[in-house]
Amino acid sequence: MGAAGAPDDGGMVIIGAGQAGLQVAESLRAEGYGGPVTLIGDEPHAPYHRPPLSKAMLCGDADEAQLTIRGPEALERKGIALVTGVAVASVDRAARCVRLVDGRTLGYRGLAFATGSRARPLPVPGAELEGVLALRSLDDARRIAAALEAAGRVVVIGGGFIGLEVAAAARKHGRAVTVLEAADRLLARVAAPPVSEFFATLHAAHGVTLELDAAVTAVEGAGGRVSGVRTADGRMHPADLVVVGVGIIPNTELAQACGLECDRGIVVDACARTSDPLVVAAGDCTARRVGDGLLRLESVQNAVEQGKSAAAALLGKERPFTAAPWFWSDQYDVKLQMVGLSAGHDRVAVRGSVAGQRFSVFYFRGGDLVAIDSVNRAPDHMLGRKLLDKAVAVTPEQAADEGFALATLVR
Ligand code: FAD
Repeated sequence: MGAAGAPDDGGMVIIGAGQAGLQVAESLRAEGYGGPVTLIGDEPHAPYHRPPLSKAMLCGDADEAQLTIRGPEALERKGIALVTGVAVASVDRAARCVRLVDGRTLGYRGLAFATGSRARPLPVPGAELEGVLALRSLDDARRIAAALEAAGRVVVIGGGFIGLEVAAAARKHGRAVTVLEAADRLLARVAAPPVSEFFATLHAAHGVTLELDAAVTAVEGAGGRVSGVRTADGRMHPADLVVVGVGIIPNTELAQACGLECDRGIVVDACARTSDPLVVAAGDCTARRVGDGLLRLESVQNAVEQGKSAAAALLGKERPFTAAPWFWSDQYDVKLQMVGLSAGHDRVAVRGSVAGQRFSVFYFRGGDLVAIDSVNRAPDHMLGRKLLDKAVAVTPEQAADEGFALATLVR
């Protein structure tokens, strides 16, 4: 790395050492690129898995060493230089260099943004009180795990995946748990009503108090520490620990500052390319153009697949990511797996037994299968990926009929 004002040719530079950044780096090598690759992350850790942070780690079922995706030695063996604990402060696209907060500069011939996202802050008074925590990073998870040891009453703000996974973990620790959700159903932004209802029943059966239509107006405390959460109906929900899971904000400021188009994410095409031919972007920080619209995905699959596309694009190759999006969530002994986008569906078909906690909901729009949510039915999910990727015609009647082998449709 050069001294300030004297950039050298850093080869390929990747900003953000998370799932997507790591994928870009490793895919550059897999594609045969032999020049320098530098992966720069502001966290003090080598790339690690985030999904277990709200699952096994909070439940006490994972040790931290298992979270690392690729350690520094493994990266070194691949000739990938990992810089941790240092943020990129600015990008100069005209001069083709990045500047780090410690003043170092690094020239690039290709640049990838993989800056991820951060937890959306709770916009109410008291959100800064001690005992009010959000979950995005390993350090956040450590703080929440420690707080769970001591907390008697936990209030989770937000009934999305992270909030519900935290609620399940807190119940596993025997804590009294209340989930406050502003919408009229759980998972409103990401799942369809049948799945929302299933999870409401599941959490209630595990002793969670669920409050829907519960808009939070303030977090209250005494002596700088949280004591409870106030909702718009005037009620107070007592708490020793409040976990906020109200969504994320993509980290686009750096890209915006250097003039790249951003619109709820760094705008990229299906090949992870920005409008600058030397610059790509991948993962949570992106918004992908699809037709006239923009698609924002926040998932491991998206980070990995866009990371592969981005590496290919840096080498002048086209590798579009067009597969159906998929995601998963673990709560108690339930594994939910989702594939496709159910928004705008006009018909559903249920396969299996909701009461038996083994079922899949098939979503149709205008007669076409558009998504499948599977609860404890991994084979339906795997088959669903094929059905959607190959745009196989399925009828709601076939989907609902357990006697009909859907696998015959993809042979
Ligand atoms: P990140 O993993 O966020 O990595 C981006 C990195 O860039 C961060 O380390 C960030 O600090 C760093 N950075 C930002 N700005 C700079 C800068 N200027 N300079 C240097 N570094 C910078 N997905 C699923 O598919 N299934 C799940 O079950 C699931 N569970 C999840 C549970 C939790 C608790 C969380 C937080 C996420 C979960 N996700 C899940 C989402 C998934 O983890 C993310 O979509 C994925 O990590 C995105 O990868 P990324 O590389 O784009 O971003």
